[in-house]
Amino acid sequence: MGHEFSGVVEEVGPGVTGISVGDHVVVEPFMVDGTCPSCNRGDYHLCDQMGFIGISGRGGGLSEHIVVEERWVHPTGSIPLDQAALIEPLAVAHHGIAHAGYANTDHEGEWALVGGAGPIGLLTGAVLKAYGMKVIISEPSGARRDKALEAGVADHVVNPLEEDLHEKVTELTDGELVSVSFDAAGVPQVLQDLIHATRPAGRIEVLALHMHPYSMDIMADLTMKERVIGSSIGYCNDHPTVIKLVQDGKVDLAPFITSKIKAENVVEDGFNALRNPQEVKILVSMD
Ligand SMILES: [Zn+2]
Repeated sequence: MGHEFSGVVEEVGPGVTGISVGDHVVVEPFMVDGTCPSCNRGDYHLCDQMGFIGISGRGGGLSEHIVVEERWVHPTGSIPLDQAALIEPLAVAHHGIAHAGYANTDHEGEWALVGGAGPIGLLTGAVLKAYGMKVIISEPSGARRDKALEAGVADHVVNPLEEDLHEKVTELTDGELVSVSFDAAGVPQVLQDLIHATRPAGRIEVLALHMHPYSMDIMADLTMKERVIGSSIGYCNDHPTVIKLVQDGKVDLAPFITSKIKAENVVEDGFNALRNPQEVKILVSMD
């Protein structure tokens, strides 16, 4: 188990040139065939045979050792190893932002909205802030809203159970609404509210996994407003960019490690503790 992990290189095989013994690294935990149409197009994350180390097999972050091809290993330099374990979900957030066309500073000063302040929602806010956008996060849990503000990944937070999101966003943006919004909740009502808070010709990106079909008013919400909805999964060539954002101090991962536990206590201190909404990421140490 464990697909978000960091570690130290212990051995390198023949022909490995970019990585040395002792390097601190993260692993992009993909298993791909390298031969299908998606792989040939460069979309290796959409491989027909895609699997994840730590989910589909081959050990993972809870193993003491793991062997992977050089292409999946990314040196993290001076980033502390505990923070480096969050490079993986940060890459998920970055990939969604890139897929929506906002992974650059061309949209500096524009408004973005994130629905949900779980780990991916918070890290999405962090990347949007790194690119200079103004961020509103909508989240029903007070503890998570506090976290978003404390960590500096939201300029404003909204409690959608008590406030009308559309009204609040209209007020904050002087009637313009947001350029882009990100669904990090996976709840139909949240997606609906995000669509309505996104300006005409704006973009909505679904990052969350919706477990049920969703029906929408395409003519009113998309066609007549020329809004675009996209969706993204995983990451593809995002790791080097997010590692640099962290190294350059544009993203601070420290606030997101809320607990550190030992591998032998993973059920009690890890899985059970995740029910607490104040927990963002619980790091499992193999020491
Ligand atoms: Zn493939």
